[in-house]
Amino acid sequence: MSVFDQLGDEYEEVVFFHDPPSGLRAIVAIHSTTLGPSLGGTRFYPFASEDEALLDVLRLARGMTYKAAAAGLDLGGGKAVILGDPKRIKTEELLRTYGRFIDTLGGRYITAEDIGTNRDDMDVIRRETRYVTGVSPELGGSGDPSPVTAYGVFLGMKACVEEAWQEHSLEGRRVAVQGVGKVGYHLVKLLVEEAKASVVVSDVDVDAVARVIRDFGVDTAEPDKIHAQECDIYAPCALGGVIRDDTIPELKCRVVAGSANNQLERPEHGEALAAAGIVYAPDYVINAGGLINVADELQGYHPERAKARVQSIYRTLREIFHIARDRHVSTAAAADAFAGERIGRIGRVRLYWVPGGRGWAKIWARNG
Ligand code: NAD
Repeated sequence: MSVFDQLGDEYEEVVFFHDPPSGLRAIVAIHSTTLGPSLGGTRFYPFASEDEALLDVLRLARGMTYKAAAAGLDLGGGKAVILGDPKRIKTEELLRTYGRFIDTLGGRYITAEDIGTNRDDMDVIRRETRYVTGVSPELGGSGDPSPVTAYGVFLGMKACVEEAWQEHSLEGRRVAVQGVGKVGYHLVKLLVEEAKASVVVSDVDVDAVARVIRDFGVDTAEPDKIHAQECDIYAPCALGGVIRDDTIPELKCRVVAGSANNQLERPEHGEALAAAGIVYAPDYVINAGGLINVADELQGYHPERAKARVQSIYRTLREIFHIARDRHVSTAAAADAFAGERIGRIGRVRLYWVPGGRGWAKIWARNG
């Protein structure tokens, strides 16, 4: 399929950056800037082919549009990939070249960290462009987003509990947390210490499991059995693709709510969960805390403001559940509708011409 065929009528812009001396080969995909500049991480990965890299960056950019829209942000969706093995080819020269290229887009795309890139890399990129988030706190960055992401998941779970049982409290609920890494650890902390929930965890990393047992005294399950635990809430906080044909019949929960990206192996698994009477919190809605946190950097990072904005995840999920009930669709389909309709409504408002412009150029001018 040609590149233009792959873009269909959906994508605004795809840019290929090439700098042979540094070895940089990068693709930036801007899916939509209807609501604001596109924001999304840079994935640095040894893709098997250029086609695979393009496919991935297009898919991920589109996902960011929906995620930002559902989170109520004035941001569009974009994503970038750098082709190659970061362990072998990542250098200061390559990252700074990449930063200069990003700068040429004038803020239409703002980058952040993703698989294969980290905060130190963002600091290097920052030397060439201000269109980067997730930098060190000394440079105005927001630090590790995981505690904020966990807080958003925790609030989202409360919305799910209301939907499933018409109760506000998580007290006494049994929650099975799959993966107790950066997000899972903080989620378990909130569940045990704040909500007084009963928690069972699994992780392939024995040290991670030992840490949560030591700190919170939780139960454990085998990694390949956690989804089948007898529980109220199953919280996938490790890998994607955990909701699929073989796992759905084994679920013994009423709610699926966790931080992992792309939990549904295929879109129709959202319908399968609904048919099984399971309340599913669409992943990109409930795990938006990290994005909301990093987006706050664009206005000069303010932790309390970011945390307050994350509380919108609770309200948004309530609205999505309402749409799902009202239109007899799955919550996954309702989330897409919610995000799409917001882009339509707010995008229309932003068509009004305002003297002197009203937007990011000014905010950036203020914040330097
Ligand atoms: P992480 O790498 O710190 O933690 C993931 C944990 O899952 C690790 O401890 C790993 O050992 C474990 N794991 C891997 N395979 C497993 C398996 N088969 N069974 C059980 N455990 C397994 O990552 P994280 O930052 O905590 O993110 C967790 C998920 O949430 C990822 O899907 C990530 O994309 C998503 N997410 C994270 C953030 C954030 O702020 N960190 C934001 C949005 C989405």
